[in-house]
Amino acid sequence: MTKKAFELTGYREASLMSLSAGDYSSLEKLINLLEREFYAYSQREYVFSLPSLRVGSLNPKILNFLRKGRTSTITLAIEAASERLRRVINKKIEIEELYKDLELAFKFGFKKIKLYFMIGLPTEEEKDLEEIVKFYKDLNRTFKGLEITISASIFVPKPHTPFQWERQITIEEALEKIKYLKSELKKNFKSHQPEQSFLEGIIARADKNFYFYLEEVFKRGARLDSWKEYFNFSLWKKTAYELGLELKDYLRERDLKEELPWEHIDLGIKKEFLLKEKEKAYQEIYTEDCRWGSCSNCGVCKGEIKNYLSEKEKEEKKLVTISDIIKNPDETFWYEIYYDKLGVSKFLSQLEILRLIELVLRRKKIPLSYTQGFNPRPKFVCGPALPVGIEVKNEFLGLGLREKVSEESLKGIEIYEGLIFKEVKFKGKEKPSPPVRKTYYLLYPIKEISFKLKSTKNLELKFLGSFYTAIPYKNEISFLKLLKEEFNIDEPLKYFRIIKSYI
Ligand code: SF4
Repeated sequence: MTKKAFELTGYREASLMSLSAGDYSSLEKLINLLEREFYAYSQREYVFSLPSLRVGSLNPKILNFLRKGRTSTITLAIEAASERLRRVINKKIEIEELYKDLELAFKFGFKKIKLYFMIGLPTEEEKDLEEIVKFYKDLNRTFKGLEITISASIFVPKPHTPFQWERQITIEEALEKIKYLKSELKKNFKSHQPEQSFLEGIIARADKNFYFYLEEVFKRGARLDSWKEYFNFSLWKKTAYELGLELKDYLRERDLKEELPWEHIDLGIKKEFLLKEKEKAYQEIYTEDCRWGSCSNCGVCKGEIKNYLSEKEKEEKKLVTISDIIKNPDETFWYEIYYDKLGVSKFLSQLEILRLIELVLRRKKIPLSYTQGFNPRPKFVCGPALPVGIEVKNEFLGLGLREKVSEESLKGIEIYEGLIFKEVKFKGKEKPSPPVRKTYYLLYPIKEISFKLKSTKNLELKFLGSFYTAIPYKNEISFLKLLKEEFNIDEPLKYFRIIKSYI
């Protein structure tokens, strides 16, 4: 599936998304497979990452894999710093294991560690937050040279969990806790936005009447609200106010006898089990993980549905050393390409053009060659960046491939509407440089403008009946700047369609 996704999209980055990837019992087997498939060649352009790992799940195999995928930060989910609170949320972590994990990660060259915590957990007290600070300071003292970041999210009680009846802390309470941690941990502390967690909590446990509210906020323009830059909390509040909804009510503690809005959805987990687990949480008693320990009779396993664990990996796991990652024989075949950037593609920046070229060529299975630094980039050689808004004919691009392909297979490739590879020359192993050519511009008026036609010390500008030609005496001077400074044309692209070309 990954291979197909890479082929179809041209992308080369993938993340093994999971709540806790380290808990996946076939993780090592999967890593072996991915290594065989994507890291078998000396040129390793693929990037894999694991979002967050369970303490105790790190081993040389996983760390090697992450290094190859250019992951620079290891993220571990701790959730609570105090042992007491970890018992409440049934998160069994041996702190010695965490120290071992960090030591190993450090040995493998990882310098950045992110530790996830939750604030506002049921039964949380002030001293539980103090424990986070102490925890951070202890680690910092032990692992000098390791950059440790504490990241806190606000606990959101979710349906079908033992905490589905709990209240969620208010925005003000969350801000208070964040303020304390920030004052102690300074720049090493990051947190989720309390307003976003507030909404998350409401949406998680709302009832069917809530639909009208969501529809109304959407109609009023709410989009992509989980992105901070699009999040408009005032709109959510204003809409709720006008519909007569009291949002805070959704975060309240639920009575155990109350019928919950999601109770008609059967996930297989028995309500008695959730109630028992809630009770055990308050008694601070761990429940065993049924994958390794005894069954707690939650109700999920019935008939065909069972708790399956992967078989022990039978295949030999060959440990690849870090030095293997670094030594990469480099053989690059170079091509000189000339392309046009006309029409709508004039709005693409140089960086966007290069990214598109990479994606399109990858989709076409053209074997791009990559630099071998920590963050591999396709091997391109370009001239000076083209200003956005100016079209161009015969622009140069040097392209490095790891295998030889025919010139015809590159010629005519349309990277984007109006952006086409027109001419391709194979250069062998000789890396091409941007050719020295004289530049000129064609200016087609699209709006009336009056300015004095003249030749200046930097530019020769002529009118040829229906359009202008402009030849700068020096290539390196910005053409738009020249028009502005020497002809007082403030926004040239408003008045002219400008096409750059080469003699
Ligand atoms: S073994 Fe099945 S029924 Fe028992 S606790 Fe685990 S998931 Fe639930």
